[in-house]
Amino acid sequence: MIRAYELTKRYGDTTVVQDLDFTVRPGTVTGFLGPNGAGKSTTMRMLLGLDAPTRGRSTISGHAYATHSAPLTEVGALLEARSVHPGRTAFHHLMSLAHTHGIPRSRVEHVLDLAGLTAVAGKRVKGFSLGMGQRLGIAAALLGDPAVLILDEPVNGLDPEGVLWMRNLLRSLAAQGRTVLVSSHLMSEMALTADHLVIIGRGRLLADTTVADFIATAGGASVRVRTPQAPALHGLLQGPGIDITGPTGTEPGELEVRGADAAHIGRIAAAHAIPLYELTPRTASLEQAFMDLTQESVEYRITAPETTGAPA
Ligand code: ADP
Repeated sequence: MIRAYELTKRYGDTTVVQDLDFTVRPGTVTGFLGPNGAGKSTTMRMLLGLDAPTRGRSTISGHAYATHSAPLTEVGALLEARSVHPGRTAFHHLMSLAHTHGIPRSRVEHVLDLAGLTAVAGKRVKGFSLGMGQRLGIAAALLGDPAVLILDEPVNGLDPEGVLWMRNLLRSLAAQGRTVLVSSHLMSEMALTADHLVIIGRGRLLADTTVADFIATAGGASVRVRTPQAPALHGLLQGPGIDITGPTGTEPGELEVRGADAAHIGRIAAAHAIPLYELTPRTASLEQAFMDLTQESVEYRITAPETTGAPA
């Protein structure tokens, strides 16, 4: 379990994370979503005790790490700026981490295997692609068999096979009962990977919701209907909780119905012998819903450099 209480970070007079309150529960993958610059990395660094919050606090498995880094055996972390000695092999990099925590060689071999790196374990890290570097970062995060994982943009640099591997790995880690917090700026990826979403923009909490609820409500699913008797069907469908757009002058035979599913509309049309030319359920584009939610914060960022200097 990870908990954040009014977590706030200011750099000079710029507030990059503001009053974040959220809980990340075990047994689920929680997506930490926000546009670039929203404050995700800063928040993760504070959770891990690598940056001190200006205000507020956080706990991981009940412990506060605001002033000292969380141990490998409690929290596995993958951060964007990794410190890997480029001359070391993947195996030696992991062995050196293992030594500091009394972790046996057999565990190093196991995580190399989990990360799909066994074949390149003896290669120097400086020759690694971005994707291989991400896999090594994941291996390091898993080394101490931690109950909590905090991963910053883990799919960055992975090829499609790697993205699928990461998705399955995160889901299996959560299925084992671990707490998995994974950041991303891609709604579409999180919709496939996460159960829960914590969405931030401009350092503020915008949504804390299940993926299913976000999909159901954010953009609002609708059904597109085409019929030569649009005004009649419009009248028949009207009722509490049902929102109908159309028919308009430009699209006389077209209705956009929210609050009723295609089956219901089809049954009503059939009962009144109204012919249907089209009956298409439309789920809102998740990416669009995410952009709508975070747009204001993105616009702020675009205009911000005039007052706060160039973004880091
Ligand atoms: P994200 O991970 O969501 O892309 P970050 O947490 O990296 O966002 O950054 C949030 C904001 O904080 C950005 O505007 C960034 O420029 C700023 N920032 C991050 N670290 C520092 C720092 N050390 N000093 C000043 N500003 C910083």
